[in-house]
Amino acid sequence: MRVNPLLRFSVLSATCLIVLGLVLGHFLAGGIRHRALVDARHTAALLADEAIRPLLRPADLRGGTISKARLARLNAVVAAVRRNGNLTRVKVWSRRGRLVYSDDPATIGKRFAVEKSLSGAFAGKPYVGVTDGTLTEQREERGLGKLVEVYVPLRFGDGDTPSGAFEIYEPYAPISAAITHDLRTLLALLAVGLGLSWLVLFRLVAGVSRALQSQVERSRYEAEHDPLTGLPNRRLLYERLAAAIEQSRRDGTSCALLIIDLDGFKELNDTLGHPVGDGLLRDLGPRLAGALGDEALLARLGGDEFAIVLSGSGQDEPAGVARALEVALDEPFKLDGLRVRVAASIGVARFPKHGHDVAALMQRADVAMYQAKRARVGWAEYDSERDVHSRERLAVTDELRLGIERRQLEVYYQPKSDLSDGRVVGVESLVRWDHPVRGLLAPREFLAQAEQAGLMRLLTMHVLERALEQQQEWAQMGLDLTVAVNLSVPDLLDARLPDDIAEHLARSRVEPRMLTLEITEDVVMTDPQRCAAVLQRLAALGVSLSLDDFGTGYSSLAHLRTLAVDELKIDRSFVSSMRDNASDAAIVRSTIELARALGLRVVGEGVEDGETWKQLAGYGCDLAQGYFVSRPVTAEELTPRLLAALAATSPQAAVAVG
Ligand code: C2E
Ligand code: CA
Ligand code: CA
Repeated sequence: MRVNPLLRFSVLSATCLIVLGLVLGHFLAGGIRHRALVDARHTAALLADEAIRPLLRPADLRGGTISKARLARLNAVVAAVRRNGNLTRVKVWSRRGRLVYSDDPATIGKRFAVEKSLSGAFAGKPYVGVTDGTLTEQREERGLGKLVEVYVPLRFGDGDTPSGAFEIYEPYAPISAAITHDLRTLLALLAVGLGLSWLVLFRLVAGVSRALQSQVERSRYEAEHDPLTGLPNRRLLYERLAAAIEQSRRDGTSCALLIIDLDGFKELNDTLGHPVGDGLLRDLGPRLAGALGDEALLARLGGDEFAIVLSGSGQDEPAGVARALEVALDEPFKLDGLRVRVAASIGVARFPKHGHDVAALMQRADVAMYQAKRARVGWAEYDSERDVHSRERLAVTDELRLGIERRQLEVYYQPKSDLSDGRVVGVESLVRWDHPVRGLLAPREFLAQAEQAGLMRLLTMHVLERALEQQQEWAQMGLDLTVAVNLSVPDLLDARLPDDIAEHLARSRVEPRMLTLEITEDVVMTDPQRCAAVLQRLAALGVSLSLDDFGTGYSSLAHLRTLAVDELKIDRSFVSSMRDNASDAAIVRSTIELARALGLRVVGEGVEDGETWKQLAGYGCDLAQGYFVSRPVTAEELTPRLLAALAATSPQAAVAVG
């Protein structure tokens, strides 16, 4: 149990003060008593020397009797002293224990046993003590309460051994009253003084403790919230997600995690500036929160990534929430006088269907978010079929790594032909995996995993190396062909790519202009800024850059001007349908016109028949690639056909497979 520090301080300090008070009181009482006893001894000595002894004769103490006159004077003196002070009894003892004089006349002449204190006085040592009258000689003093008893030696002449002793009793009550009184005063003063200082200290400590407490609370808040948006951060999200999972497990219900990633935020940030980007992120919180129920937790994971935990009995359907979020984002944000519209990709993972713990749900929601982003569908629920992370596919990843090392990757080549004369002017390198068990695998069966496993750079370099070797081999046979190699996102994000390519070119002695690098639009859009820089450096090498699958993404032709590309490949989805679909034909046609106006070479992909070939040629398209000319094949298969075509008058007919 954590004890409140303030309470602990109060108890500890109060205990210390009470102990201090008790110790002081004890010393004070001892001091008062000691002084009172010393006083009593002085009184007795004074009385003995100045008042009593002058009225006694040595013979009185040796067995004689005190004359009546002296007895009367003694009584008078004692009475006078008693009137002025506290005197209960006065006695004069002979060495034999006979009471020579007492102010209680009935006891004069009686003998008593000589007590230790009395015999001490006979030996010259005065005695003082407190008694409650239990001795025989004190019979008369019984009932008088506590008394101070003093014995002093009685001497006649200097240096003589005492002839007897003088004894007085004083009441103890005034002393104990004085002690009590002084003690009370002391304790009262102590209580007030210490109480005051304790109050001051208490206020001080309370202040410090309060400051500490609020500091702790502030640190805790800061540790759990994102400073820019004030939303809960990743840490708090994990905590709440874990709690939601636990609760659902107990209740047998379900909960869900949504991961939201803005589309094109990086681009927006780079174009409009960070203040606008930050403003957008700040405004986004309330906007998203407005689309959520009370029980949902909205957090910022970092960058442009947000997450939502949906839990509790009133849990909304994740699909409904995802749709509500899309609607909420529909309205543009007003920033700095600008109207900015953002779209987001949302991934949904549920407990217990998709995962049983925080890590699993986070990973699955992330995968779903990427699925949504790739498919441009707004939101997607996790689908293990498509998850390259699922267990069986992980095994494939390991295999793939080995496969690359064991050179199981094959490079197939598909010709690119000049539409004006049908001459094959280049080839595109397309990778295949010659899997020892599953046979020849197409790129779509392993590329996504290669990317997830971080094997893409290795794969690209492998394909590049083979393609350049092949280009040299063909050149030596008199076949002057460009080779195209496809680049992926990890390639373009790696700043070392241009140097690596330059090195491969130098080693293979292939002229840079004979190499074409194909990049799809979504590769470029992942990080346009960084990509543009890498593309610039690639262009500077003298290699040719080609924008692949054009028309499937959302980059405009105007945007192309800013990229250093030389070639545009119209996606085969347009090309293959243009024969039957007038609007696709119109798109292809205007794209070709615009691209040519921008000085770009245009390639039509997916040309499957002669009619399409003619149509493209009619539109002024430069090159064609497709099954009409050839499927992707191995170099062994392609080389004889290319050589035959070179020899023949009609090269296109020679290589066409149909
Ligand atoms: P892509 O770059 O658009 O490559 C063209 C794809 O279209 C090839 O599929 C090719 O076989 C197919 N194709 C060619 N002509 C026709 C046709 O007339 N009709 C139809 N229906 N399809 C045709 P493939 O080889 O399966 O490659 C698929 C994708 O995989 C490629 O699309 C490319 O994006 C990627 N890819 C292939 N090899 C590599 C590589 O070495 N590195 C990288 N990064 N990506 C590669
Ligand atoms: Ca390609
Ligand atoms: Ca393509």
